Amino acid sequence: MSKNPESVPLCPLNSAAATELEPLCIFGTGDLGRSLGQRLLQSGYKVVYGSRKPHSCGPLPPGTQAMSHSAAAQSAALVFICIHREHYSFLETLAPQLQGKVLVDVSNNLKKNLYPEANAEYLQRLVPGAHVVKAFNTLSAWTLQNGPSDANRQVYLCGNSAEAKQAVAETATKLGFTVLDRGSLSAARELEDFPLQLFPEWRLPLRIAVGLTAAFYFFLLIRKVIYTYVQKGDDISFRIMVSLANKVFPIVSLIMLSLCYLPGVIAAFLQLYRGTKYRRFPDWLDRWMLCRKQLGLLALAFAFLHVLYTLIIPIRYYVRNRITSSTILLIKQNKTSPFDSSMAWRSDSFLSFGILGFGLYVLLGITSLPSVSNALSWREFSFVQSKLGYLTLFFCTLHTYLYGWNTFLKPTSYPWYTPPGYLLCLIVPTVVLVLKLLLLVPCVDRSLTRIRQGWDRANKVDDGEKSLLA
Ligand code: NAP
Repeated sequence: MSKNPESVPLCPLNSAAATELEPLCIFGTGDLGRSLGQRLLQSGYKVVYGSRKPHSCGPLPPGTQAMSHSAAAQSAALVFICIHREHYSFLETLAPQLQGKVLVDVSNNLKKNLYPEANAEYLQRLVPGAHVVKAFNTLSAWTLQNGPSDANRQVYLCGNSAEAKQAVAETATKLGFTVLDRGSLSAARELEDFPLQLFPEWRLPLRIAVGLTAAFYFFLLIRKVIYTYVQKGDDISFRIMVSLANKVFPIVSLIMLSLCYLPGVIAAFLQLYRGTKYRRFPDWLDRWMLCRKQLGLLALAFAFLHVLYTLIIPIRYYVRNRITSSTILLIKQNKTSPFDSSMAWRSDSFLSFGILGFGLYVLLGITSLPSVSNALSWREFSFVQSKLGYLTLFFCTLHTYLYGWNTFLKPTSYPWYTPPGYLLCLIVPTVVLVLKLLLLVPCVDRSLTRIRQGWDRANKVDDGEKSLLA
């Protein structure tokens, strides 16, 4: 226990010579309190619990002690507050015992902005003489019990006292976690919002993917299945399962891949128009650019589905039946099917560009994995994601053009005046590729490069001149 109430006694925590680590206190014998206690014990700490009912608080990790809050607080310099924020008010009465202690606030809320101030700031207000550190709130009781795994190794912390943060960081490190200091206690609200996030950067890409899939499924259902039923009386509803899916997936994949590259092209034209890179992009463009990786990964997932659906085509009953019937018909009519060389070229090129596009697609996906991208230099990463990315888009677009070939010229391709799905999905990638080609025109490319190196049309000075002036 500290003699000086204002000091943060770190000595036993960071002393390499210490054979036994100093006791730590946990307020609350609930799920998190028990899991944390068990992990601390396994790491060599003594653990003392502060509880409302020290004699009947249920099974605690063996070797720990439970006592009243005030007695427990006095036996340790570092206290984990494993209690819900709603019950913090009683801590005010313990302010004298908690004076100078490090209080670790692990709490989370059920919703964002539930309270006007962060839980940790509230705790600091209740016990102004203590050093509150927000930490461990992003770990679950389960993680603490099972020990840090690769995915859950990080402990974020923040607080106003550097020494208190150091004490908590050392404890977290001894438990096997890596620590990320997020600054002062004013960052606590951000840390408290972390566990409430549900794939925030995936939301927009997922909405786009679901929206496009639903829209194209519905569209193709009308022009393929319903049209055939109404006009010819044929029920081909079974095609919903494979044929339609294998039309929708590549369409969504190609549109989403082009949506990865469209914001970069828009940003380039915006910089050219403004003549500077020092003005912020509009918020919608910023948000769009930030979710490009997720858009690309979803596009890859749809491409993968397309490949799988394509591979099963030969074993489909419908396909086998059609091949057999047409062969029998030819035999009956004593006819042969003439070999069409241009058709062979078209089919082979279509397949070849599809395979090349998919191969590069997979490469883009692999290099977006943090473990791979971390091993690449910035130049290598941008070469793969930008140059090879555009090449992927080009191959996939060409694959789709070859699929359609000249069928868009036939009136039968427009049932109920609706254009084929492949034609619609070519709009965005074609626009992206044409705009990219415009950006590659030498005079445009030169202007853009100058702007990106700091040239500003309004000031007509570049970075070099700026630094000379400075
Ligand atoms: P819990 O299982 O409900 O335990 C909370 C403990 O608080 C109780 O066991 C009780 O201990 C004490 N308590 C309850 N009412 C009290 C009151 N009126 N006055 C004083 N103490 C009271 O909750 P938990 O899951 O352990 O969560 C505890 C804190 O950790 C919460 O702030 C939560 O947001 C945070 N957290 C939890 C997890 C998790 O996975 N569970 C993960 C991250 C953060 P005594 O009976 O011994 O007094």
